[in-house]
Amino acid sequence: MSGTSYDVVIVGAGIVGAACADEFARRRMRVAVVDRDIVGSGATAAGMGHIVVMDDSEAQFALTRYSQKLWQELRVELPDDVEYEQCGTIWVAADEEEMNEVRRKHAFYVERGVPTKVLDAEQLTQLEPNLRGGMAGGLLVPEDVVLYPPCAARFLMERAQKHGAELRLGIALTEAGRGRVRLGDGKEIACGMIVNAAGAWAAEFTPEIEMKKRKGHLVITDRYPGFLRHQLVELGYLKSAHSVTSDSVAFNVQPRRTSQILIGSSRQYGAEHKEVDHAILSRMLRRAQEYMPGLGAMSAVRTWTGFRAATPDKLPLIGPWPGDESLFLATGHEGLGITTSLATARILVDQITGAKPEIPVEAYLPSRAAKEMTHV
Ligand SMILES: Cc1cc2nc3c(=O)[nH]c(=O)nc-3n(C[C@H](O)[C@H](O)[C@H](O)COP(=O)(O)OP(=O)(O)OC[C@H]3O[C@@H](n4cnc5c(N)ncnc54)[C@H](O)[C@@H]3O)c2cc1C
Repeated sequence: MSGTSYDVVIVGAGIVGAACADEFARRRMRVAVVDRDIVGSGATAAGMGHIVVMDDSEAQFALTRYSQKLWQELRVELPDDVEYEQCGTIWVAADEEEMNEVRRKHAFYVERGVPTKVLDAEQLTQLEPNLRGGMAGGLLVPEDVVLYPPCAARFLMERAQKHGAELRLGIALTEAGRGRVRLGDGKEIACGMIVNAAGAWAAEFTPEIEMKKRKGHLVITDRYPGFLRHQLVELGYLKSAHSVTSDSVAFNVQPRRTSQILIGSSRQYGAEHKEVDHAILSRMLRRAQEYMPGLGAMSAVRTWTGFRAATPDKLPLIGPWPGDESLFLATGHEGLGITTSLATARILVDQITGAKPEIPVEAYLPSRAAKEMTHV
C-alpha cells in the first residue's frame, strides 16, 4: 500500500468511515480505508442502532431527519442481516410535567413535517402493555427505525469496495495530516485528502479538537416474543443525555428482530477502561425495571460497553479542518452516529465536490472548534 497515492485515505472503518468510503468510491475517487481493528468494531459495534429523529437544536434535527430519510431510501438495498425494522419510538411521559414536553415535541415535529402522535395513558398501555401502570402518556414517532449497526457498516464498506475502495484492516495509524498518513511501522501513504473518522479516538490525530469519551453500557436479554413492540425512551433521557459532567442512566429499551430486548442506557465521563462498571449497570437496570417491571425476571445474555465521541456543543465535526487543507473531519457524533452516518458522508462529499448540500452545514463545520480553541 505504501508508495500508492489515493485521492482520499479514511482513518477508521466504523459506520461513519464506511459511509464516507461508500460516498467517495461511488464518485469514482480512489479511496483507501485503514483501521487497526475490523469493520464496525468501535462504537459501531456497541451502539443500539436506533435511527432516531431528535430535536435538541435545529442543527441536530436537520442532520438526524436528513439522515433518517437517506436510511429510508437505502432500505430496499439493505441485506436481511442489517435487521432494518421501522418499529417507531415512543417517548414515555411519567407525569404531567413530561406530558408538557410531549406536547412541545409534537408541535416541533409537526411543524417540520415529521409524523407524530400524542398518546394518552390508555393508548400507551394498549401499545405497550408491559409498561408499569400510572404513566401519563407518550409521543409516538412512527418513522423511527432500529437496525443492527455492525452489519450496516459492513454493507456500506462492501459497497465501497465494489466501487474500488481498498480496505486495510489490522493497521494502526500514528499520524494523519499534511497529505499523508503514517502507519505504526513507520511507512507512509500519500493522499490528496484525509478523513479523520476515528470516532472517540479522533483527537489522537487532530489534537486541537476538544473531544471526550462518553462511556455507555448495554445489556441484551434472551428471547421474549411479544414483550416489547417499539423503542421506548423515557423523556428524562433528554435530561441525562444533556448532562456534560455527571454520570447518568435512563430507561431506553429496544425490540430486536430476534425477540431479544436491548436495554440501555448509561453515560459516563472520565471512564476510559472498557470493563463493565457494575455500579452504573445496576443503576441502569433498576431504572429500566421502574418503567417495565417484567424486565426484572428476564435472563440477560450479554453486557458490553462502548465510547461515544462527545464534542462540547453536542454537534459533530463534519468538514475541512482549518490550517491543513488536506484534512477533513467526520467525527464527534456522540450517541447519534449510527443515525447520522449517511448524512455525514453525503454533506462531506458535497463540501469536497462543491455540490450544494441539502441542509445548511455551518453548524457542523470544524472551524467552530478551531475558533473555540483560539478563544481558550
Ligand atoms: C452504548 C451506546 C449506544 C449507542 N446507541 C446509538 C443509537 O441507538 N443510535 C445512534 O445513532 N448512535 C448510537 N450510538 C453512537 C454510535 O454508536 C456512534 O456515534 C457511532 O458508532 C460512531 O461511529 P464512528 O465510525 O464515528 O466511530 P467508531 O465506530 O468508533 O469507529 C472508529 C474506528 O476508528 C478506528 N481507529 C481508532 N484509532 C485508530 C488508529 N490509531 N488507527 C487505525 N484505526 C483507528 C477504530 O478501530 C474504529 O473502528 C451509541 C453509542 C454507544 C456507546
